[in-house]
Amino acid sequence: MASAVVVFDFDKTIIDCDSDNWVVEALGADDLFNLLLPTMPWNSLMDHMMAELHAMGKSIEDISRVLKAAPIHPSVVTCIKSAHALGCELRIVSDANALFIETILEHHGLLGFFSEIATNPSYVDEEGRLRILPYHDFNKSDHGCPLCPPNMCKGKIIEGAIQREERKIIYLGDGKGDYCPSLRLREVDFFMPRKDFPCWELICEDPSALKSQVLEWRYGEEQGELLLEVITIIVQQPASGECKLESIPPAVPTYKSLGRALALRP
Ligand SMILES: [Mg+2]
Ligand SMILES: [Zn+2]
Repeated sequence: MASAVVVFDFDKTIIDCDSDNWVVEALGADDLFNLLLPTMPWNSLMDHMMAELHAMGKSIEDISRVLKAAPIHPSVVTCIKSAHALGCELRIVSDANALFIETILEHHGLLGFFSEIATNPSYVDEEGRLRILPYHDFNKSDHGCPLCPPNMCKGKIIEGAIQREERKIIYLGDGKGDYCPSLRLREVDFFMPRKDFPCWELICEDPSALKSQVLEWRYGEEQGELLLEVITIIVQQPASGECKLESIPPAVPTYKSLGRALALRP
């Protein structure tokens, strides 16, 4: 039996909002956030916003409480558990931060299903303020990718994973930052962009730039159905077998979404 590595983006892919925006808005600092956004990189601004929230008297407990209320579709929760049960290795690559992601996953009983979370490190300092650091320390060296923000090139992370990976990779994401990794996937891999979101729009500009198969999804329910279908196909293949969706055996149900998604590729 073959297996697969499923790599999830976090914001608007696992949860149905952006965790940074969610926290800042819920704690009443969104006007300041929007005012400062043109002046510094997003990741640096989030670290700064945590200082502002601390100065406003907001505690880590306030932040945790808000994070636990972030929306997540029940199908996504079920799908993560099913994918793990089918033998997939699950990872996250996210431009949020470790505390936000771990707090939300733990709240939904999902943290233990992920073997790796590549994200911006964060810690609570001695004054009780959350510090958020860049994944790539851009003050020391530039990651050199023109597509990505200075603190994180998800493509570099995926490329490192591909170099030591014989299993097929399925990557799910919605944002601009997920476009770079989509360009690094191999023919045997699957890229699952969220339809009508920035990454999907970039792919539509030139679908031939991707080597992998592309399967679009819109909502949590569709994401779960489609992902489990792809995983089912992969695990039914011999370990070294080619896995093209054209070769789906008739016994495997084909969702309408598959036909729509495949239309994206010429
Ligand atoms: Mg996202
Ligand atoms: Zn990049």
